[in-house]
Amino acid sequence: MRNSRDYFAAIDDDRRIWLNGRLVDRVLGSEHLRGNALEIGALYDLQLREDLAGQLAYDDGATRYPAAFRPPVDAAALSARGRAYEILAEATYGFLGRSPDYLHTWVAAMNAHSDWFGEYADNVRRFHEHVKSGNLFVTHSFTNPQTDRSRELGDLVTRERPIALQYIGENSNGVRVSGARMMATSAPLADELLVMGAGRILREDDYDLGLGFSVPVGTEGLSFVCRGSYAGPDRQLARRFDEMDAVAVFDRVLIPWERVFIFSDPYKSNQFKAECGFFEHVGQQVLTRQLVKGRFLLAVGTAVAQAIGITGYPNITEKLGRISTWLDVTEACLTTAITHAEPSGPTVRPQSRSISAGLRYFNDFYPTALTMLEEIAAGGLMLTPSVEDAEEEVLETIEHYFQGATIGGLSRVQLFAIARELTGSSFGRRQSLFERYFAGEPARAYSSAFNRMDLALVRKPVDKLLTAATPVFA
Ligand SMILES: Cc1cc2nc3c(=O)[nH]c(=O)nc-3n(C[C@H](O)[C@H](O)[C@H](O)COP(=O)(O)OP(=O)(O)OC[C@H]3O[C@@H](n4cnc5c(N)ncnc54)[C@H](O)[C@@H]3O)c2cc1C
Repeated sequence: MRNSRDYFAAIDDDRRIWLNGRLVDRVLGSEHLRGNALEIGALYDLQLREDLAGQLAYDDGATRYPAAFRPPVDAAALSARGRAYEILAEATYGFLGRSPDYLHTWVAAMNAHSDWFGEYADNVRRFHEHVKSGNLFVTHSFTNPQTDRSRELGDLVTRERPIALQYIGENSNGVRVSGARMMATSAPLADELLVMGAGRILREDDYDLGLGFSVPVGTEGLSFVCRGSYAGPDRQLARRFDEMDAVAVFDRVLIPWERVFIFSDPYKSNQFKAECGFFEHVGQQVLTRQLVKGRFLLAVGTAVAQAIGITGYPNITEKLGRISTWLDVTEACLTTAITHAEPSGPTVRPQSRSISAGLRYFNDFYPTALTMLEEIAAGGLMLTPSVEDAEEEVLETIEHYFQGATIGGLSRVQLFAIARELTGSSFGRRQSLFERYFAGEPARAYSSAFNRMDLALVRKPVDKLLTAATPVFA
């Protein structure tokens, strides 16, 4: 299997990444991207560790592959896959939403449902083999740019200079597309960009928008415009875990036919997630990672409370107890999802309801938990001077005057700086936004949960009471 050096060599190409208004020469040379690349490289090396091989990889007798590709045929297999997710997430404290196992899981699920892709089924299967055997890092973009949400996407289709990604032509080699995709997190460091869906429901004649394909990040005509970087030298988390978000711009890009999965098919573009179990399969990886991240938050909150001697106050222990209970609920959702596995093509998938409940709960609770952490640390979040390259005299001052109940001044600055990054930095705000929005807008997810309900069944208890009740005013 691939190691970090293979990975670094693969992304050291001529990809076009715009960052801070300039083209990045080489992503590994960029101070804004390098830290995150090293973390992903470390995940590749972790998969090669012999003591973890049984958990992070499997072999088919001859070749070793990442665990996410092992077809989950029963609950035990789902559980084993979950353990691999957990080990990988623990290596990065749950901060990497786009660790390679995330889309490995989706590519494996697409393969399990490849027949559904009809005439493009073989393309799906070959793509799966390509990603699996190369242990490639794939990212995805499933939404179109936020331009005018009052209009249907189909009404924006134009041959002039499209904004939403669309078909503009085809020849014997492939399909030509132009336009942009709203977000492709980690694209600057990925091997492949997988494009599917549209972010909204397409109308039945929105043929030009009904596309699904994958291309290498370095493909001619493809470029990425990154948001501003949050990585900085004295930011312990951001310099390692700031996953770059970027808009993907396609300028007359030719997608080879063998990389097309959905073509001129708005129905399939609307349906692929539901038909192939996207949320259930990928949701297991996401929820596992979120659990690890939540545990990190609890660890920071506990360490901060101990550091300044406030663990005896009930208003503090209540907060830490709430975070701990929230993690128990998340874990219970994961366990139930696995033990109540449902059929998914020739495999099984985690139970839909439990995954959905866990993801929604995390959406809501993560910002609340950050507020609790802020209330625990309070003004101490500001006792965080930069100590990198500090002179001896001020270090001595900090060691004395910044000390806590159980901790010296410099250690306390480091600990509280982590709490500050989580609660108050651009990196921390982006993490919160990511957890709430990366898989879609939460309000609409709740709304569709209502729309899926059997209302007659939901009303039954109150209807029973009303029918059986003795009239009060008889
Ligand atoms: C940090 C981060 C990373 C991300 N990474 C990725 C990624 O890697 N790949 C990817 O595919 N996506 C990614 N996303 C994008 C994510 O999929 C979208 O943000 C999400 O789908 C919500 O869509 P939107 O942001 O365009 O919001 P919009 O749809 O523009 O909504 C904006 C507001 O308008 C309201 N609104 C809009 N339309 C309607 C309507 N019809 N009815 C009622 N209310 C409406 C919404 O409720 C919301 O309040 C990422 C997002 C974030 C924040």
